[in-house]
This record gives sequence, structure tokens and C-alpha cells, in this order.
Amino acid sequence: MEDAVERAAALREFAEHTAGCTRCALSGGRTQVVFGSGSPDADLMFVGEAPGFHEDQQGVPFVGQAGKLLDKLLAGIGLTRADVFVANVLKCRPPGNRDPLPDEIAACEPHLFRQIELIEPTLVATLGNFATKLLSGKPAGITRVHGYEQEVTLGSRTVLLYPLYHPAAALYTPSMLKVLEEDFARIPDLLARAVDAPAAHDEPAPAVEAEPEAVQLGLF
Ligand code: URA
Repeated sequence: MEDAVERAAALREFAEHTAGCTRCALSGGRTQVVFGSGSPDADLMFVGEAPGFHEDQQGVPFVGQAGKLLDKLLAGIGLTRADVFVANVLKCRPPGNRDPLPDEIAACEPHLFRQIELIEPTLVATLGNFATKLLSGKPAGITRVHGYEQEVTLGSRTVLLYPLYHPAAALYTPSMLKVLEEDFARIPDLLARAVDAPAAHDEPAPAVEAEPEAVQLGLF
């Protein structure tokens, strides 16, 4: 993408296009598509799970309690929402905030990939299991891989993927919050490295089996 103005226009156009999406049944129950928000030019992108009640109402991701924690974590590393782009795996709220279903993830995946293609982040921080498994393409759960950056190719783009605990889970578990804060503290360094040379910094997580997802489910 040539410049910031062009990128912002392309992203706005894509948001307008997705606003009418009917690729899955969630379109029938939503108030609106929650496309994502932040800087179209962001080097750092966060990917959460799906909109909850408040996000569905307001059309902005992470506006509830988990969002307040995300804001606080960002402030801790000298950033605001305006410096990053925040999106979700699903753009529409699952009823009752249930987990995303495989067919919903598959239907919504092209939207996320297109966003990444347009924004061109160098560092993509996944929040929780669903975003981490989708973008890493691996079954290892967040408990094992959080805090381990890994290089991944998403569509036409190679980025540094950085799995983090979901803020909603950390809200209720002090030990998890501490880990999330520690993992977050590494972001400025990773960002500097990723911007310089994304391909040069691959630190693979330990090879592990798939694990139960209990800690990250149903938490909004
Ligand atoms: N949880 C998410 O994963 N995304 C949101 O937008 C809000 C809560």
C-alpha cells in the first residue's frame, strides 16, 4: 500500500463492504458488524475473539471491562488505541457470547486476512485461544504458547505473531493478569525488532500437544 491516506481509504471501503456481510448465520442476530478500530497504519495489531454485548451495541471492539484492561495494558507501554489496530476473529456477536463455531470462523476468516493485508502490521498480538490457533495454524493452546513470538505467513504477508492471554480471562485471575502484564512489557522490544526485520526474529514456542481450552472460554 502506497501511503497512509490510500491505506485509510482502502480500509474504510472494506469496512463499508463488510458492514452488510451475510456469510454466516451470526448476521441474523447482530446489531452491527464490529469491523475493528484504530490506526489503519498500525505496526501493532491485536486480534481478539468476538464482539460481546457492548461491542455489538457500540460497533467498536473491546469496549467492556476487558477493553478497559486492554487500554490500561497499552498505557503501561506508552500506547493508546489510536496507535494500534484492534479487531476480532469474528466480526459479529455470537448469541449469549458463546464460543465461535468452526463454520463461523471459516466464514469470517477472509475479513481478518484482508484487514491484515491492508493494514500491514509487523507485529500481530493474538488475545486468547481462538485468535492464536487461527493465526498460528497450530493447535497448541494459549497457556503453552503465550509470550512466545513466532514468525507466520498470513496471506501475502510475513508477520511476527505474539500470543497473549485474553484480557477477559486475566480480569478474574490475578496470576494470569501478572503473566499478561509481563508478556505485554515485551511488546515495545518486539515491535522494534519486527519493524526492523520481521524475518530475522523467529523464536519458536516449544512443540506441544493440543491442550484443553478451559481457561479462555466464554469470558467476556
Ligand atoms: N472480547 C473479545 O475478544 N473481543 C471484543 O471485542 C470484546 C471482548
